[in-house]
Amino acid sequence: MTNLIYGVSRIEIPTPFPVGNVNCYLIEGSPLTLIDTGPKTSKSLATLQKELQIRSYDLSDIEQILLTHNHIDHIGLVAQFVKERAQIHDTPTDVLIHQKDAEALINYDRYIELYMKSVVGLIALSGVPKKETMILAQENRTDFFKSIGESVPRARYFEDNASFKTGIGIVSAVWVPGHSPGSTCFVCDKQQVIFSGDHVLGDISSNPSISFDSSENIGMLTYFESLNRISSKESYIALPGHREPILDMRTRIIALRAEYDDK
Ligand SMILES: [Zn+2]
Repeated sequence: MTNLIYGVSRIEIPTPFPVGNVNCYLIEGSPLTLIDTGPKTSKSLATLQKELQIRSYDLSDIEQILLTHNHIDHIGLVAQFVKERAQIHDTPTDVLIHQKDAEALINYDRYIELYMKSVVGLIALSGVPKKETMILAQENRTDFFKSIGESVPRARYFEDNASFKTGIGIVSAVWVPGHSPGSTCFVCDKQQVIFSGDHVLGDISSNPSISFDSSENIGMLTYFESLNRISSKESYIALPGHREPILDMRTRIIALRAEYDDK
């Protein structure tokens, strides 16, 4: 657990994916808030519990969960928080995700099935013969993906510009589609900090993902347009979904644009 902004702790959670650890951020004060949760694996859960315990908290103490986007390495454990809190407290965990990403959380299994179908469709479209496509589909392990996430039917959704009270001040949602249809950065002007999710990462590029959602809210062009949506906050410290904090966001955004121009 590391602390860069007073009242904000970065908690690194292991994931079963090549990307490595995912960052969750604990914002102390009222309401006790967590940004992203990590995937639903026993290793992730144990790490999260241990790190919260260092601050004398447990899962049931988290009052508000803000989600940067609907990918499994960020949302898988949400249901666990909700269940643990429901056993002890009258007030439920308030779980918030952008409207365009909400379906994945509200009906997780259905989302995974549609997602896998779209992956298989893409493989088939790229010219891989049917038999091989089916083998690949099985290798894509629908059951595995289902096992590392869980629906949260009572999650609430927000839209662009929504704002939330936290212990470090008001945090505003800035919709930055591209990496997912409802990707969101949470901006705290008071602390000059931006929780950038996977929209801006320090030393790896944020990839626009495969999605069965054929809207215009994903893809490279949308992603780069969304970089403009945070350009007025370039002087802020960025706390990303993976790897280290970004202390010079201006330079990082210039580098990301240059990468695109090269492609
Ligand atoms: Zn991620």
